[in-house]
Formats: sequence, C-alpha cells, structure tokens
Amino acid sequence: MQNTRRDTLKTIGALTAGALAAACTRVSKGEAVEPSPPSSPRPADPSSRATPPKGPRMPALFLAHGAPPLLEDAQWMRELAAWGNALPRPKAILSISAHWDARPLRIGATRPLPLIYDFYGFPEHFYRLRYPAPGAPEVAARVRELARAADLPFVDDPERGLDHGTYIPLMPMFPTADIPVLQISLPGLDPRTLFDLGRALAPLRDEGVLIIGSGFLTHNMRAFSRETPAWAAEFDQWCAEVLGGHDVDALLAYREKAPGVRIALPTVEHFVPVLVAAGAADAHATRAGISFPVTGFAFGSFTKRSVQYA
Ligand code: ZN
Repeated sequence: MQNTRRDTLKTIGALTAGALAAACTRVSKGEAVEPSPPSSPRPADPSSRATPPKGPRMPALFLAHGAPPLLEDAQWMRELAAWGNALPRPKAILSISAHWDARPLRIGATRPLPLIYDFYGFPEHFYRLRYPAPGAPEVAARVRELARAADLPFVDDPERGLDHGTYIPLMPMFPTADIPVLQISLPGLDPRTLFDLGRALAPLRDEGVLIIGSGFLTHNMRAFSRETPAWAAEFDQWCAEVLGGHDVDALLAYREKAPGVRIALPTVEHFVPVLVAAGAADAHATRAGISFPVTGFAFGSFTKRSVQYA
C-alpha cells in the first residue's frame, strides 16, 4: 500500500483531461455478474443470531471519490487522511458507490476479491492498486435483516468486489485496509427510494458500521476547466445550504430545485449516494451535527464537498 502510494505520487502530471473523462463513466451496466435469485422475504429467526451490541453511534458520510487521480492530488489526499484520522474507528464500512446501480438492491462480496478497475485510459500502475480489506459477512447479514424489515427486495451478488468509488477514498482514509468493507448497490436512482434505503440501514450506525455514500455532488464529464464556472459554484452553494440545514424536502426535489442542475448533473448517479447518507442520518440529524470535512473543487467544476453527519 505505502509503496503503491509512493509510486503513484511519482507520476503527478501524467494524466490528461481525456483520460479523466474516460475514468468516471458508469460501467456497472456492462458488468457480467450473475446474481443469485431474489431472496424471498422471511422473518428473521431471533434465536439464530444474537442482537448486535450497541455502541457509540458512528457518523454517516457522503464523500467525493475523485477517481484514480485523487491518489496523486497531495492536498486531497491530506484532506481525506485527516478526515479518516478524525473519525472513530469503525468495526466495518458499508459503501454505496455511484458506480454500482443495480436493482433490486444487491449485496456484494463478503470475502476479499480482486478490485474492480472500472476506469479507462490511465497509466498502468493504477491497474495494480490493492486494497485487501476483509469482507464483512456479519454486516451483510444485518443488511438482509434490515432490508427484509423494510420490505426492500434484494439479492446477494457474492462475486462482486469493490469498485473505485469505494476503494479510492478508503486508501487515504483507512490506509491499513484492515477494516471489513461491504459494498451494496444503488437500487436505482429514485430520490425517495434511496433516502428510505438510508433510513432502513441507519441502525447499523449504532452497531459500529460507518455508512459511506460515494459520488460527486457535481459531475459533468464535459466540464473540465481551470476555473470553477459560476454554475458549479452556485450548485455547490445550494448543496451546502440544503445539506447543512438537512432540508429533506429540498434535497429530494433537487432535480427541480437546485440551480444549474441540468449542467451540474447531466446524469445523476454521482449525486444520489448523498441521499442514502442523508437517510441514514435522518433520525438524528441536527444542524450542529452536520459538517463538511472536505470542500473546494477539482478539475474546475467538480465539487469536492463531502458531508459528515454527527
Ligand atoms: Zn465516479
């Protein structure tokens, strides 16, 4: 890991906007993953599993994931490392990334698998990245229970490993890769569905699980620039106000209410992971408990604004 980071830091400046543009496209539709059949809802057998112990409530996060160039952005790496250091150590991490949109809800691998290099046109060393985090079968079991309780259909997808939306930010935040990680899919892009998914998963926060939504609040792959355009600044400011005030009605109506949303988000998959985080935070969200540990812009128009709920 450390060697990988040193290697990647040597190649600053080697990337082009064209390569960046190729990096962050959605690829989940093309993956040839055979899911297991849908699970039929059945009541949890209370005798089969002990109630997970409750501990201090973990924060819920949304973060801008940056794609592989993040690893060569020294300032962004420092920001994420500082954020990771400031967080309580989770027992496990549950990640929902922009790069896996699959219905019904899919529950990814519960054992370490090779990373998914779901980016194109980058220097070869990015395709040797490693993040050998343990699997999190206990968290997967709890996700199944919580999904059943909320009448959310789901399938297991045991051959689906971690995509770059998950492992790139975890590299600076939790560089030792020794915390179990589970990735689940975005079950579509509907705001209310995703917010309700977050609400359903919220009990995990009291069980030591760090819920992370990973995306970008602005994500226009045709809008790389040196300067931050006005539309990006205005959209980012709207996000700061709506997220900072936990204005759920406005957040759920972002496609109608946010200024410049059509140019900020030609597609919305990078925005919507924040809805899962906001849902996970909802029962306990207070203005004082909402912070933005990382802000600023990358590549001109991509806001790095990342959110921590308590
Ligand atoms: Zn992305």
